[in-house]
Amino acid sequence: MEPAVIASGLAAVRKRRWCLWIVLIVYLPTMYVTQRITHSFSGSMPVFFAWFAVLLCVMFYSATARCPRCRNYYHMQGMALLYLRKCLHCQLPLNADKGDSF
Ligand SMILES: [Zn+2]
Repeated sequence: MEPAVIASGLAAVRKRRWCLWIVLIVYLPTMYVTQRITHSFSGSMPVFFAWFAVLLCVMFYSATARCPRCRNYYHMQGMALLYLRKCLHCQLPLNADKGDSF
């Protein structure tokens, strides 16, 4: 297996994980600002649903990231979605290409 293929594959997995974390982190300031503007819970519901729709998309995006070594879904085994720092199938570490995980 080419180390460059592993490196670029893991970089793609890390990028997708980052997208998910960013959407999760953005939730609090977004809802805070929305509450300040609308002054009501019902008024902020459309924003909540918009955020939730984005979250579902990003979860799908991150869940379908494939392991560059075994070509299985990196975070998904059967119906289980687990954001570990290694592949659920072949235990390839998320930073295997950086050499600091052995
Ligand atoms: Zn794997």
